[in-house]
Amino acid sequence: MRIVFLGAPGAGKGTQARRLEARGGWPQVSTGDLLRAAVAAGTPLGKRAKAAMDAGELVSDPLVMALLGERLGAEDCSGGFILDGFPRSASQALLLKELLRASRQRLDAVVMLELPREVLMKRLTGRRTCSATGKLLNIYFSSAEELNASRAAGGELIQRDDDTEETIANRLSVYEQQTRPLLAHYAGLLRRVDAAGTPDEVFERILRALPPADSTAPAANSAGPSPGKLHG
Ligand code: AMP
Repeated sequence: MRIVFLGAPGAGKGTQARRLEARGGWPQVSTGDLLRAAVAAGTPLGKRAKAAMDAGELVSDPLVMALLGERLGAEDCSGGFILDGFPRSASQALLLKELLRASRQRLDAVVMLELPREVLMKRLTGRRTCSATGKLLNIYFSSAEELNASRAAGGELIQRDDDTEETIANRLSVYEQQTRPLLAHYAGLLRRVDAAGTPDEVFERILRALPPADSTAPAANSAGPSPGKLHG
């Protein structure tokens, strides 16, 4: 199955895409993760992408496509994939269409995670990663036990570089202006999902919203999941 996850920053795309990867077997492909890895590795591409990322702006299409083209060409993506954070603009939607057409593939569903702006702000400004356990936490929403467990493990709560209030406001406005219009572009494939509630609740809604795995056309010799695995 080839799925796109759309939604504002903080809507939970990464969390849900990873869950779907675990359930369905299609790899989660996050352009944000690919870009952060390039920045951390200090590659030339990473160096060119960093300023836009720090400002909450979109990285240019050629840089993003260079990373994405390589990743989607990998063997583990041949039976399907879950795109998380791509496409983010009309030009990227066209580039994706061309990329898929060239390999005779098509999208099966576009999942839109919907959440009010005030909740998005709290999710993003409160988001932290525990340096000891690597667990994703939120200072507003995580339970006292979870936050204490991180402290007990000797962890520090690290904030992502682009999770400051100013950058967050910019990322949300970039989303409204450049990404939200894609909803009309994908009208035929679109599945809207309420992203409020616990990760378990949202995941159940996503499973219900997706087409059955056996109604999609897996690639020949697909290493993807067997039909029915998703809904079973
Ligand atoms: P994310 O982790 O998806 O929130 O992405 C973090 C940052 O990486 C974004 O604010 C952008 O600067 C950059 N980025 C991620 N995906 C894309 C994309 N598809 N196009 C352009 N920039 C992106």
